[in-house]
Amino acid sequence: MIITKSPAELEVMREAGRITAVALRMVGDAVRSGVTTTELDAVAEDAIRGAGALPAFKGYHGFPATLCTSVDNEVVHGIPGSRVLREGEILSVDCGAIVDGYYGDSARTFAVGGVSAEANQLMEVTRQALEAGIARCIPGMRLYDVSAAVQEVAEAAGFSVVREYVGHGIGRSMHEDPQVPNYGKAGTGPTLKTGMVLAIEPMINAGVADVRSLDDGWTVVTADNSLSAHFEHTVAVTDEGPMVLTLE
Ligand code: MG
Ligand code: MG
Repeated sequence: MIITKSPAELEVMREAGRITAVALRMVGDAVRSGVTTTELDAVAEDAIRGAGALPAFKGYHGFPATLCTSVDNEVVHGIPGSRVLREGEILSVDCGAIVDGYYGDSARTFAVGGVSAEANQLMEVTRQALEAGIARCIPGMRLYDVSAAVQEVAEAAGFSVVREYVGHGIGRSMHEDPQVPNYGKAGTGPTLKTGMVLAIEPMINAGVADVRSLDDGWTVVTADNSLSAHFEHTVAVTDEGPMVLTLE
């Protein structure tokens, strides 16, 4: 069942999204060669707690940190640690915050200094794929219109869409119905209605679509070790059009 949110609930989710966006921006400002992913995690946790919110991921199914930090061939769910970032790497950062029981969820991939032309293109295309999906968040559109829009942008650039992990509804739980795949057939799926809130999150690989999990039980990597990028926003469907909640 897809739970729609009232305007009052959307206001609270907007605040959770705003705090998530501030934390992600501060993490992005701290990304540089020589920093560890644990140091970035502390930046995010301080930003979220300092704003009076709670980190959404810490303790979620036992996840140990505020951020998921995934480098290069890591797709999602990387665990912050002692890894030192190096010039030329790309870092996907996934972040969430809770305000009054409501969740915000957003992700961005950052360049560590100068990166390859392929890495730059992958990041830009993934961001554009997200924007294409967001633009379909209008009452009366179908859910897989969103999915198809994301897929079309990614595949037109010659990149692959991860199938095993998908976006999701979000509200008083981080993961609610419906699942929001980054691939699908336009014109099908549930009809979008005012008050639905979707976390749209393309995970796009430079090589094959297949992924596998590492022995840490969390980190997902590309099967062919190609680069992967991840951008995510929490978006409300409203009569005025798509409302991105995870902006400052
Ligand atoms: Mg996320
Ligand atoms: Mg998400």
